[in-house]
Amino acid sequence: MQSLLNHYRRSIALHLLLVIFGVYFLVAVLVTVVQLYKEYENTKREFYDEIQTLPATFGKGISESVWTYNQELLQSILQGMYNLPIVVGVKVKSLDHKTDFQIGAVFNEQHQVEYYTSKGIPTEQALTGLGSNALFEHEFPIYYQGPAFDQNISLGTVTLYSNDQLVFERLKYGFILILVNSIIKTCMLWIIIYFFINKYLGKPLKEFTFKIHQQDTQSPKPIDLDINWTDENELLVLKDSYNQMIERVNKKQLELLNLNQELDEKVKVRTRDLERAKEKAEQLAYSDPLTKLCNRRAFFDSGKQLLNQANNNESLLSLIMIDIDNFKSLNDTYGHAMGDKALIVFADKLKNSLRSTDLIGRLGGEEFAVILPNIGEDEATNIAQSLRLKISQIKLTHEQSSVHFTASMGVIENSPQSSTIDSLLAQADKALYFSKGHGRNQVTAYSTMATAAASQ
Ligand code: GH3
Ligand code: MG
Ligand code: MG
Repeated sequence: MQSLLNHYRRSIALHLLLVIFGVYFLVAVLVTVVQLYKEYENTKREFYDEIQTLPATFGKGISESVWTYNQELLQSILQGMYNLPIVVGVKVKSLDHKTDFQIGAVFNEQHQVEYYTSKGIPTEQALTGLGSNALFEHEFPIYYQGPAFDQNISLGTVTLYSNDQLVFERLKYGFILILVNSIIKTCMLWIIIYFFINKYLGKPLKEFTFKIHQQDTQSPKPIDLDINWTDENELLVLKDSYNQMIERVNKKQLELLNLNQELDEKVKVRTRDLERAKEKAEQLAYSDPLTKLCNRRAFFDSGKQLLNQANNNESLLSLIMIDIDNFKSLNDTYGHAMGDKALIVFADKLKNSLRSTDLIGRLGGEEFAVILPNIGEDEATNIAQSLRLKISQIKLTHEQSSVHFTASMGVIENSPQSSTIDSLLAQADKALYFSKGHGRNQVTAYSTMATAAASQ
């Protein structure tokens, strides 16, 4: 039931059919009622006409029998009339009331219906087989034609009765015919309308809807409808409009896709640039641009880690602090550029002379520091000495003259008293200061500094 209701809601053909059928049915009923009423009127008139022809047939015989008081003849004539299908009652009223007689259904003086047998005896309605429908009557006079040609002697009246039931009886077949006719026409109309609306509208719409549902939402394609009975109609216009819209959507989608790709590319390039910038910034933040060694900050960060590791593992670690001697006068004599060059060459010398695990940093100006993990003060002092020698052997040229420089160093190893980079640096700086104070181009180990000072 529910699915039928849904089908009705979804089917234009069925909906139109029911609307048309409903309207048509009302109109058909109205027309049939009017038609039937007209038929009824006609048939009733026909009855009157037929009844009015009866006096011409039976009048003379009735007159004769009343005039001659021939009751037997009168009865048989009246019975003959009563037997006619349009007559339900006959009543003869003579002036002298001697030959009064009635058969079937007749009105009495008070206009009430009374029933009589064919012998003229009063009876019940049920026994006559007559209906109880309203009677209608036609009265005509009876005369006796005397010897003189124009002498007419009035004898009384004959009243003929008929009723609506007979009219309806006659109408019945006509009515059934009209009804069957209407039903057949309605049904045919119904089928024809349903068939054609469904064929020309319902089915193409269903096909269209189905194909739209089948569409791939990513890349919808134009739809083709199987309508070969027309070149142009609203359905085809609708289909074309849909296809044009699909084309526009596809175009926009392609544009969007291209834009997305472009955007992707741009994001990739931008990300790469950012990564590079970040790397550079990190490099700048942690390395010295001139010598490419760790700057002060990076040296402190990494140095703290190395020292922590050494303290935790109770392993050795030494720190050498280095300062180029009389660098100011090198700058003054050969220029700042030569000073820079000396710094670069100096840094390279440190890098090339030490292990990759050693940490080298430029703490500022011409001041450097080196951390040597797993190396004690003695060995570190030896390394410093070797470095000092290598530095003193560096030879730079400026115009025609060769340029040399030296460096002073202070060495310290880790101990419970010097457990931070700052304290190590402070102590190494003292040893360095000792080297400076004792002629420069020297290496001083912190632990030997006191002894060395005492011996002077
Ligand atoms: P000392 O032997 O006592 O260390 O004397 P010094 O001249 O080396 O020390 P001082 O602190 O008096 O001078 C250091 C100079 O180093 C001062 C500055 O002009 C120079 N300097 C610092 N940084 C740079 C640099 O990056 N490039 C150059 N060319 N010179 C620098
Ligand atoms: Mg110096
Ligand atoms: Mg200095």
